[in-house]
Amino acid sequence: MTNPLLSPSPLPYGLPPFAGMNPGHYAEAIDAGLTVHLREIDAITNTSDPATFQNTALAMEQSGRLLQRAGAAFFTLVSADASEEIKALETELSPKFSAHQDAVYMNRALYDRFAAIDVSDLDPESSRLVEEYLKEFRQSGIQLDAAGQQRLRDVNAELSRLGTEFGQRVKESMKSAALLLDDAADLAGLPAEDVAGAAEAAKAAGHDGKYLLTLIQPSNQPAIASLENRGIRRRLYEASLARGTSGGTLDVRDLVRATLRLRAEKARLLGFANYAELVVDQQTAPDFGEVKAMLGRLAPAAVRNAQSEAEALAASAGHNLEPWDWAFYSARVRKEKYEVDEQALRPYFSLDTVLADGVFHAATQLYGVTFHERSDLAGYHPDVRVWEVRDEDGQGIGLFLGDYYTRASKRGGAWMNSLVEQSGLLETRPVVINNLNITKPAPGEPTLLSLDEVRTVFHEFGHALHGLFSNVTYPRFSGTSVPRDFVEYPSQVNEMWIMWPEILANYARHYSTGEPLPQATVDKLNDSLLWGEGFATTEYLGAALLDLAWHVLSESDVPDHVIDFEATALADAGIAHPLIPPRYRTGYFQHIFAGAGYAAGYYSYIWSEVLDADTVEWFKENGGLTRSNGERFRAELLSRGNSRDPLESFQAFRGRDAKLEPLLKRRGLN
Ligand SMILES: [Zn+2]
Repeated sequence: MTNPLLSPSPLPYGLPPFAGMNPGHYAEAIDAGLTVHLREIDAITNTSDPATFQNTALAMEQSGRLLQRAGAAFFTLVSADASEEIKALETELSPKFSAHQDAVYMNRALYDRFAAIDVSDLDPESSRLVEEYLKEFRQSGIQLDAAGQQRLRDVNAELSRLGTEFGQRVKESMKSAALLLDDAADLAGLPAEDVAGAAEAAKAAGHDGKYLLTLIQPSNQPAIASLENRGIRRRLYEASLARGTSGGTLDVRDLVRATLRLRAEKARLLGFANYAELVVDQQTAPDFGEVKAMLGRLAPAAVRNAQSEAEALAASAGHNLEPWDWAFYSARVRKEKYEVDEQALRPYFSLDTVLADGVFHAATQLYGVTFHERSDLAGYHPDVRVWEVRDEDGQGIGLFLGDYYTRASKRGGAWMNSLVEQSGLLETRPVVINNLNITKPAPGEPTLLSLDEVRTVFHEFGHALHGLFSNVTYPRFSGTSVPRDFVEYPSQVNEMWIMWPEILANYARHYSTGEPLPQATVDKLNDSLLWGEGFATTEYLGAALLDLAWHVLSESDVPDHVIDFEATALADAGIAHPLIPPRYRTGYFQHIFAGAGYAAGYYSYIWSEVLDADTVEWFKENGGLTRSNGERFRAELLSRGNSRDPLESFQAFRGRDAKLEPLLKRRGLN
């Protein structure tokens, strides 16, 4: 049988033909892709013709298509549906990808040709392309001597191996930390559908008749908000926080220390004071000092708000509060003070309705696009659904894939990624996917979401729109290929429609009666929005400041005692609260240790939120949910990708630089 990945996909929009693919196909296509790409680059450098934009930059943008196609499909599976074979293949391939990246960006002949391109007559996107390439060469060590480059290659290969290993151990430790309970009475307080889910999970794990409380990625476990048995809450909390640091084969502390030492060395080799400086150099933030100053400015106000929440919780509990009591009493206070019962909201948030009448509906109102389910097209798993997205004039824009349910082969959390990136040059239209980890209901039952899950569905779809509306020439600049501290901005903006009256009224309807969420409930919900912001901001800032603390260390500063360092770092940053652990502790901080994705970049969420909160103000000032407002946001922001400086796109959209005040107000920090 021929390998379907070796030729362009015959499916609409270049959707990979997953049904006909097996792990051997990925291995073969990626190996071939790596070889072909290097050959294409040799063709660019092995010429005596002087370097031009066409024969160098344009040729680079056209190269590597097979690798791109095979890699995108493969890494989608690695995150969303990794079999043992796929995991083994990931371990084998990650260092090869890292070595390949080095082979390209430490190629002196290629760099020299880029540096020789005459950019004076180029259009802005093209001259930016040359600039961005040159910058990446410099950040990849092009200026190092042969010995320095060799050392950097070794460092990168080892970092890539460590990141893969971290991701795999974290996935396993999340599974093994699940709490197996014998007795339904232990689950008292948990909603019936969650009890049923726990029974299903136990059965699937070979413990028929028992109950398995599975974990989600962050420290705080949602079940703690409803479990009445304090001892069970404590066990769940402790199991969550101990992940990755309790010894045994899933302990990640060795990986963390090795990673940090190598990152510090890498920064030094590249001429930066520390790894955080190296990372921020690639972001929209002007420098590391500004990032630190901003987080430092928010921390005391967040802790103060958290402390007043803690006092309200202790009063409600009537006893001293322990960390595993927080969410439980927080839900209770929300119920007493604002009369909002989160569990009672769920019947109004069925996944299908939230999607069709909420997420998609908002996009139609703003951007004129419509969504058409293509049951003739398949993803990599039967749970994946495929929609064709069409513009107002009926033209197809791209495909949107939704993979909403949790499964053992999927990593924790929620994310968007691209299978095909939009490019005018390559004449490709986007294929993007959203992944969540929603518990699958018993057969025949509706999928009822928590408000938090509704928020995640809207958030990830904001990333999807950024990919779908991309209208750039070069694939390098497509959609979400923007700096890390900008990429969360469009997704956060999309969250504004969750509680927008016209949208909420359209999607929040009882799954069996069709009745809308009562207005009184909506009002109370709106009143309660600031409740819990102290906790949320504190746990977020804890993780962001911990991330920065890890990444300013020199090689010799990396401590032996990870847990001790963590406690000291939080205290030093002024974000330690005895009842509020950081959103991620080091042992399961996947964002920063399973690959370098958010390393020294977890601050990005709040950095982007400044732009987001200011954008929400703009929509409110200009009439809210209208086609013309959507059009402006799409034209100046969502369609631009990285084809111009993202902050310039923001200014073009907003008419000025961002202000901090809307964020402070939103989070109750002013
Ligand atoms: Zn996001």
